Amino acid sequence: IKFEELNLSEEIQRAISDMGFEEMSPIQSEAIPYLLNGRDIIGQAQTGTGKTAAFGIPIVESCKSDDRKLQAIVLCPTRELSIQVAEEIKRLSKYKKDIFVLPIYGGQPINRQIKALKKGIQVVVGTPGRIMDHIRRKTLKLDNIRIVVLDEADEMFDMGFRDDIEWIMSYMPAERQTVFFSATMPDEIVKFAKKYQTNPKIIKV
Ligand code: AMP
Repeated sequence: IKFEELNLSEEIQRAISDMGFEEMSPIQSEAIPYLLNGRDIIGQAQTGTGKTAAFGIPIVESCKSDDRKLQAIVLCPTRELSIQVAEEIKRLSKYKKDIFVLPIYGGQPINRQIKALKKGIQVVVGTPGRIMDHIRRKTLKLDNIRIVVLDEADEMFDMGFRDDIEWIMSYMPAERQTVFFSATMPDEIVKFAKKYQTNPKIIKV
């Protein structure tokens, strides 16, 4: 199935074409229509399957340019993945005016991140520890978040981020879309996801 059949906004379609994407990958054709409809999903997908665009496209599509508040957050296990995911979302939002995407991770001076956040960022992609730090400092305001993505959830659990993620989730607005992506689907992840999702659609590719 081609991206053009999704009837995305012209700005996103143009960015997708620039990136050289024409046909959707299996995870994209399964997940994107649900996500555009506001559904929660648990997607089982490995790296390299196009999972980043599967959640990146719905995030960019739903982001309001005229609102400089945080609207979407993506939690990633590592700094490298945070940067990579933020870059892909930036590419997808290239033609959408005034959408700001920021990667946030430990090891980078926090003051620089605080300064960047103060300018008004709609999409934050980051690692749990540093995200918690910003929530505590109130430099990340979560009230207007509409989409929460946990990318590589199994990896984050293996790295011991489970309690941190629970803590972060407790601060998220109740009215939101929650998206899990994981390469493996152990019971622990499915149970955890159910706790935070409403009627999730399970997608395996
Ligand atoms: P990911 O699984 O998100 O890490 O994506 C793997 C790679 O495939 C990245 O370089 C993407 O930019 C690229 N990609 C994602 N979706 C598509 C698509 N529909 N067509 C061609 N390349 C894609």
